[in-house]
Amino acid sequence: MEQLTADDLASLDLTPAQMTEMGKAVMARAVANLAALPETPSRGDYTDIQATCRSMREGAPEKGVALDSLLDQLFDEWIPRSFTTTGSGYLAYIPGGGVYTAALADFITDSVNRYTGIWEGAPALVQLEANVLEWVRDWMCFPQTTRGVFTTGGSMAMFNAIACAREKLLGDDIRSGTLYVSSQSHHSIVKSAKLAGIAHDRVRTIDVDENFRIRTDDLEKAIVADRRAGLRPFMVFSNAGATNTGAVDPINAVADIAAGAGIWHHVDGAYGGFFHMVPELRLLLSGLPRADSLALDPHKALFLPYGTGLLLVRDGEALRALHSSTAGYLPDNQSEFYDPAQYGPELSRGFPGLRVWLTLKVFGAERYRAALKEKRELAVWAAEQIALIPGVVMDAPPQLSLFAFHLEGNGLDSLAAQNAATESLMHRITNRGQLMLSGAMAGERYLGRVCVLSFRTRRAQMELCVQQLAEETAGLLAEASVRARS
Ligand SMILES: *Cc1c(COP(=O)(O)O)cnc(C)c1O
Repeated sequence: MEQLTADDLASLDLTPAQMTEMGKAVMARAVANLAALPETPSRGDYTDIQATCRSMREGAPEKGVALDSLLDQLFDEWIPRSFTTTGSGYLAYIPGGGVYTAALADFITDSVNRYTGIWEGAPALVQLEANVLEWVRDWMCFPQTTRGVFTTGGSMAMFNAIACAREKLLGDDIRSGTLYVSSQSHHSIVKSAKLAGIAHDRVRTIDVDENFRIRTDDLEKAIVADRRAGLRPFMVFSNAGATNTGAVDPINAVADIAAGAGIWHHVDGAYGGFFHMVPELRLLLSGLPRADSLALDPHKALFLPYGTGLLLVRDGEALRALHSSTAGYLPDNQSEFYDPAQYGPELSRGFPGLRVWLTLKVFGAERYRAALKEKRELAVWAAEQIALIPGVVMDAPPQLSLFAFHLEGNGLDSLAAQNAATESLMHRITNRGQLMLSGAMAGERYLGRVCVLSFRTRRAQMELCVQQLAEETAGLLAEASVRARS
């Protein structure tokens, strides 16, 4: 950059022409990146990645550098060396993809930089966020008393829910409260419990049945045992789609137990909750609307970019009682309109509502329902094909859009050998470059998984998935039986 005068130095403002030019440069790179997705490897090159990261360490820049050179490094060197989470072949973990309209909304959000922590700062913008929360409330068939809050993800939604249940049911007597999860519950629950003051020795992990669903008889026994021991059971979690296997707990049965015991029932719908948007699929999540609170991740099944979670609480006043506070420098709380800071721990915050609002308005709920339905159909179809591959044992057929399996065969007699072969299968598929798969330990067993939840994943990718799994499974089984004979 050219020499700046002392006056220029203190100004960080840009002219409209400069802003437009910089914006175009970014837009060109971002769109080119998306346009190249079909040819982009499913996982970037990780060769010497540690050395790369070490070589990137540097002090704070004293002088500015041209935006273009930074964009070159970002888009040519750093972004490619990652999981291609936007790709149509991303079937690992829980995908989502990241719809483009959300990026545009974020650009608007960040350039207008309005204050949405409190209603008064930008009433109409906050109203957009309130609208989205009400749409989601209705899709989940929650009552009018419901209030919610956008969070950065499912983990923070869970944390908020635990704090809310704890405050309402335990008050100051935190130490005697006990909380119930299944062995398939997401680890963020136990982590959030700790953040919310519920220590590990107050968390009960309930076994699951052969379908990875919480054993409700064990749950009831555990609650009774804790009561007898003078403790105060206050919260139970059920899965509306567990991360490892996609299992949906018997939500109605858990709701009955929770109601009988007077404890808070939280449904973890971070992966699967949005399937409730589709009326034909609601039966798969039967009982979900009975939850006291529900965690959802728009950055998964609403296909939004990372950083968008959501919590709904049936007793909206309980959420407000936890978070509502005042300060001398803030306007008085008002209650007619939604006021984000009264429902969550943050004051200054981004404006997560706009990316969800703009995207839902541009596409409409109809297209979302069609996309979600299609993802489930693709998963059901692929799982049927994959179950027919010799050597594949389907442990968890898709309840929503995720299924899990392992390999068995000649020479794969021990659990350890089956685990190693299944893990190897995941790596071999990923290394072929068009798809990315990840597995998970469920108890002692390593499960291969396929999760169909990127909006970009269509029939072609699932056909490829079936074909590659068949080829690589055949190869692995042949190698194992050669080893067994020698
Ligand atoms: C992803 C996920 C979480 C955690 O949500 P984050 O958005 O990653 O914080 C919790 N539970 C389930 C079932 C999930 O799939």
